[in-house]
Amino acid sequence: EASLQRDNSSTGSRNGQGFKGHDMLAPFTAGWQAADLNPLVIAKSKGSYVYDVNGKKYLDSLAGLWCTSLGGSEPRLVAAAMAQLNTLPFYHSFWNRTTKPSLDLAKEILEIFTARKMAKVFFSNSGSEANDTQVKLVWYYNNALGRPNKKKIIARSKSYHGSTLISASLSGLPALHQKFDLPAPFVLHTDCPHYWRYRLPGETEEEFSSRLAKSLESLILAEGPETIAAFIAEPVMGAGGVILPPATYFDKVQAVLKKYDILFIADEVICGFGRLGAMFGCDKYDIKPDLVSTAKALSSAYMPIGAVIVSPEVSDVIHSQSNKLGTFSHGFTYSGHPVACAVAIETLKIYRERNIVEQVKNIAPRFQDGVKAFSNSPIIGEIRGTGLVLGTEFTDNKSPNNPFPPEWGIGAYFGAMCEKHGMLIRVAGDSIMMSPPFIISPEEVDELISIYGKALKDTEERVKELKSR
Ligand code: PMP
Repeated sequence: EASLQRDNSSTGSRNGQGFKGHDMLAPFTAGWQAADLNPLVIAKSKGSYVYDVNGKKYLDSLAGLWCTSLGGSEPRLVAAAMAQLNTLPFYHSFWNRTTKPSLDLAKEILEIFTARKMAKVFFSNSGSEANDTQVKLVWYYNNALGRPNKKKIIARSKSYHGSTLISASLSGLPALHQKFDLPAPFVLHTDCPHYWRYRLPGETEEEFSSRLAKSLESLILAEGPETIAAFIAEPVMGAGGVILPPATYFDKVQAVLKKYDILFIADEVICGFGRLGAMFGCDKYDIKPDLVSTAKALSSAYMPIGAVIVSPEVSDVIHSQSNKLGTFSHGFTYSGHPVACAVAIETLKIYRERNIVEQVKNIAPRFQDGVKAFSNSPIIGEIRGTGLVLGTEFTDNKSPNNPFPPEWGIGAYFGAMCEKHGMLIRVAGDSIMMSPPFIISPEEVDELISIYGKALKDTEERVKELKSR
């Protein structure tokens, strides 16, 4: 508070309160060292909206960071947290001690995940920690099986799996690697399955999927299948630009992995718990994973928590071999934090009571069709999405091969116009992404579409002006 109020006297900031510069090394922020940093400071939330310190209202069309699935003011989640805080604010889960909320939540998650039968749940505090845990589980598993060389992990270009050393390595985004000496050498990246961008002339979606599965197999053979432990994928790629799997892609990929005894890690951190109009991406795309990472909508983000879901095959090996390998020496102080677990239990209860998957399915066409109606704008290359997640890619002349000059900052301009008109989205280069709360109402969807339209008009004019210079 004090540091935020420090230079109230200055003027000209976008929030009018002169929060110029601050004491935070801000995540994913450019130029944090600059004295003129001028953050948007959010102070309050209600339903699908957030408010800045000046009271300006924004439709939160990214649900925080793809996470506040039940919106910003669900009283039952607050009550669940308070009740747990008043009973047992903390106890850990190490050394065969634990708490009831963590046991109950693990049971609940195993019941809710029905894409295949799973056996165990490990709790983390975030998606990044969940994915780091996956790599450790996979290594422990292969050590237990006496396969010390089977350790490499294959991820995909443009994937996002987190920003710790291992999860950033898994991520297929150059910005997460450059200047950090990443990726780690045991991580390999295979093709991004973006049909619109990477298809060959005349190639069908099925042919494209076959080509990518073949390319994955070539990579496995070149490295030696005995060195490849696991493949990790988001069912729908999120931060990479909302990229949907092309037809038959996951069938073909799973066949390759099976052939070479390679585990499938499904990163459901964004997709999980209903966002795609299915409880999990694994349900929607018929994925039979060995390991699953979840976070975000697990607690509607009211408390930080992630969960790794483990198959019987993997957990059996880990358990049966634990005499040989000793204790499974991995865990966090806050693994299974009772307050986070209590909030997650209540979140899952609300999903069940309100039939959240049906709710998302019902509202999705209004959202998808409404935004996709702008597809013929001359500055839009592709609008893509499913359920309550959607990406737009700006290109010139509708072609994936005609990007706008990066220095024009077209995506950023669109994002700024949305903000001006009262809506928050995510911008990454000339891709913009939206993932509104599951509770978004029809009227709010209409408002989202209307603001999108206004920002698009502003951006079209901007492009015209830049071209005429
Ligand atoms: N996996 C995916 C698919 C994600 O989208 C994210 C976060 N956006 C993560 C992992 C990392 O989660 P966290 O930021 O909680 O560490």
